[in-house]
Parts: sequence; C-alpha cells; structure tokens
Amino acid sequence: MGKATGFLETERMENPLRAEDDRLKDFNDLHASLPVRDRHSQASRCMDCGVPFCQSDFGCPLHNLIPEWNDLLWQGQEKEALARLLLTAPFPEFTGHVCPALCEKACNLADEGVTNRDNELYLIETGFARGWVVPRVPSRRTGKQVAVVGSGPAGLAAADLLNQRGHTVTVIERADLPGGLMMYGIPNMKLPKEIVERRIRLMEAEGISFLLNTEADPDQLRAFDAVILCCGSRRPRSLNLPHMDAEGVHYAVDYLTCATRGLLSGSAPVLSASGRHCIVVGGGDTGNDCVATALRQGASSVTQLEMMPKPCTARVPGNPWPEWPRTLRTDYGQLEAISVLGSDPRVYETTVGSIQVDEHNRIRSVETVRLKRTPEGRMEPIPGSERIVPCDLLLIAAGFIGCEEQTLRTLSLEADARGRVLPADGSHALGGSWFSAGDLRTGQSLVVRAVADGRAAAHEADAFLAAAH
Ligand SMILES: Cc1cc2nc3c(=O)[nH]c(=O)nc-3n(C[C@H](O)[C@H](O)[C@H](O)COP(=O)(O)OP(=O)(O)OC[C@H]3O[C@@H](n4cnc5c(N)ncnc54)[C@H](O)[C@@H]3O)c2cc1C
Ligand code: SF4
Repeated sequence: MGKATGFLETERMENPLRAEDDRLKDFNDLHASLPVRDRHSQASRCMDCGVPFCQSDFGCPLHNLIPEWNDLLWQGQEKEALARLLLTAPFPEFTGHVCPALCEKACNLADEGVTNRDNELYLIETGFARGWVVPRVPSRRTGKQVAVVGSGPAGLAAADLLNQRGHTVTVIERADLPGGLMMYGIPNMKLPKEIVERRIRLMEAEGISFLLNTEADPDQLRAFDAVILCCGSRRPRSLNLPHMDAEGVHYAVDYLTCATRGLLSGSAPVLSASGRHCIVVGGGDTGNDCVATALRQGASSVTQLEMMPKPCTARVPGNPWPEWPRTLRTDYGQLEAISVLGSDPRVYETTVGSIQVDEHNRIRSVETVRLKRTPEGRMEPIPGSERIVPCDLLLIAAGFIGCEEQTLRTLSLEADARGRVLPADGSHALGGSWFSAGDLRTGQSLVVRAVADGRAAAHEADAFLAAAH
C-alpha cells in the first residue's frame, strides 16, 4: 500500500537538468540526481492505484510492477524494490536514461505523474553502487545454440532472457561496439556510453558471447538451433533531391555516430558542425539530438525544420489521458539553442526545396519552402515562399523507412509495405527456427518497446527450442 497522502504532500520533482552554460561545455550526462531523501518522497507520491494505468498498455510496455517498487522505495527498502523492478525490466539503466516514460503520462496523477523513470534509474544505480547487481550465471545449460543478430536493446533483451533459460547465446553485431542505436545514435549526454559498456561486461560474465565487426551470414546462422533477428529499422528517409551526395549533407545517425566515435577515441570527430551553419531537417527527437550535438561542437547557427504545424500546448480532443500527449515539447537541445542563440531553433511548416553546391560539390545553401495543409491533409509547398538560406551542414533527421536493403537481401527476408519484417500472424516467428524482434519487426520505435519485443521473441524462441527437444 503506497503512502495515501504522498501526492498531496509532495510535488512532482524530476532529476534536474544541468544548467545550459555548464552542460554545453561537455558531452557528459545531462542530468544531476536528487538527494536520496527527495527520491524517497517522490516514490511516496505513488498511490498504489486499484487500476494502475502506469502498468497498462497505455503505460509501460514492460508492464513493470511500478506501484510495488515505488512503495518499497518510499519505505527505504531499495534492495527489495530493485528485485521487483528487475523481474520485468532487464536494463533499467537504459530506460532510466532515455525512456520518454509513457507510464508517467498514463499515471492517474496525469500531468503530475509519479517520476517512475528517475525512480528506476536511482534503484539500478544504487544496485550497482552497493554491489547488488552481480552476474547471474545459469546453473544448467541446455546445449542449444542461439544466435541473436544485432546488439541493440531488442537483441540484448532477447540474449539476456535466452541465456537465463540456459541456452548458449552468441550475439552477432556488425559494428565495432555493441549497443545498437544506444551506442551509435543516441548521444552520450543522453545515455553515457560507459553505462552501455557496463551492461555488456555483465552479460559477458553471464556467459553471452559477442561477435563484433561481423555481418550476419546465412551459412553461419544455419549452425544455430534458433536465430533472433534484431537488425533495427535503419534505412533513413531521404529528401529525394539533387545533390544529396554533396559534401556537408549527411543523415542524422551517421553524424551522431561520428560524434560518439570522436568522443570515445578522444580525437576530433571526422565530421563536425564546428563553425558551420547547420540546418537539421526533422523536428523530432533525432533532430533534437543533432541540434544538441551541433551546439556542443560549436556550430555558428542551428536551425531545425519541421514540416508539420506547431503542436498545441494542451491536449486536443481525440488525444485524451491516458494516451501519450501529442503536445508541444521543448527538449534539452532546443532549450540549449534558446539559451545560446536566443531563439527556438524550430521552424514549422517548412522544408528544404533544393540544395545548392559549389564547384567542388560542397553544400553552400539550401532553398527553404513554406508548406500548408490541403483539405485532404497533405502538406504542400506555398508558391512564392522560397528563401535561400546559407548552409554548410545539412543533417537529415526525417525518420526511418525500415530494414536496410542489404540485410533483407543477404538474409532473404521479406519486408511489408512499411519496411518491417513482421510475420503476417503478428507473432515473432519467421518460419523454421528464425524470429524477428525490435525495430526490425515494429518499425522505428523506442528503447523500451524494443526491449519488450526482444523479450517476447525470446519467449517464443524458448518455447520452440523446448518443443524441438
Ligand atoms: C538518434 C536517435 C535517438 C533516439 N533516442 C531515443 C530515446 O531517447 N529514447 C528511446 O526510447 N528511443 C530512442 N531512439 C529509438 C531507439 O534507439 C530504437 O527504437 C532502438 O534502439 C531499437 O532497438 P533495436 O534493437 O530494435 O535496433 P537497433 O538499436 O537499431 O540495433 C540494431 C543492431 O543490429 C545491427 N545489425 C543490423 N543489421 C545487421 C546485420 N546484417 N548483421 C549484423 N548486425 C546487424 C546494427 O549494427 C545495430 O547494432 C532513438 C533513435 C535514434 C536514431
Ligand atoms: S498510476 Fe501513478 S499513482 Fe497509480 S500506481 Fe501507477 S505510478 Fe502509482
């Protein structure tokens, strides 16, 4: 039973963001932590509702036992709270950093929802600090060999569950470091890379093998009793304009990957926004990460173009609680731009109409064009609204359209119209001993959904292996 009057006595308080002028000097974690006393009182705000919407399909995709561990945390029983959390959440340190916290918006306290994400981060970090998180090596091995292709959150979640079931798991990853978009994609200030590396070391100690710099090959995969494909949804949406190959035009993930590689190697990134006029196409979270990275690298200016109209500040009819609110959010990168450049970098109902290059095929400017919504709901250019804007770094963060062609071809996979490798019956089973999970199956989504989907695929694969015995 939660503290009945907790939410009446204590206001919602999130982990504070470091001040802009401080955090812009480095790529370190954006957030500071609350003192333990405040963390306990934040947990005491949970009412242990009869119908906990936080745990429902509107809330946490992992169906975390949120009221139970909030209650234990409030009472100072951190170890027991962490044990309840780990029953459903294999990597609370990832979701504790990057989850948009669907559960908090679905919470019965609505806009003042309990700070579940910060609470879970506190629990897992306390667990690591006090030595409660130790390798769990299965006492018995089944003799079954499982390959997991892709080491993003879906692959790691599937590998973790199947390893705990006693199967021998090899994760095959083509990048030089594991973690998928959590390593090369999400910037360090949002998810510090040592946190990903710490979990990988733990998984290795539990018996999971990581085969890096390795592209999955169907002949190699035939040697395994089951294969879980978690290759992500990594084909970026192009602007389909001439000069997309110009120097200075890059996809967001390529740019963010360079930034992380530079940081990890301690050298200047191969591709930097330093001293450049940077335009980011795409007003979403990936675009925001580009804005924040470009500011840290010392861009001369940063503008973020969004083709859709500016969202409302409050929920609109048709988007009621407990659904995720489709309202205006000003994220950390945009707050930083406001602080440094004096204005919100976002320009709505605008896109790039053309790219201008110099004689060396280097981008020099772009033509922006304003858009308006047609009665049919399409966004169309407004004639005469074109404007030439200086630009020597154009970053495309316009979303993802599914699995990469090369992976589909090499592994003989079929994608649906949205680029997903999604079995027709909605399961994870692709036929034979192969399964798909994560963004590969659902389309570009969230870390927490990829973790939930990786676990669901692993359950199906485990049942398949048991039946095949
Ligand atoms: C810039 C950016 C920021 C984001 N920020 C957030 C956030 O703050 N919060 C959030 O919840 N979500 C965020 N997301 C979304 C989230 O990162 C993804 O939904 C999640 O990582 C998907 O996990 P996954 O395991 O399915 O795929 P991925 O993380 O894409 O991992 C797939 C892995 O498979 C490997 N691979 C692919 N093909 C092969 C092959 N043929 N052989 C071997 N290996 C292969 C890839 O190298 C990669 O490592 C962000 C995404 C981006 C791009
Ligand atoms: S809905 Fe909110 S208050 Fe209710 S149990 Fe979940 S987190 Fe606690």
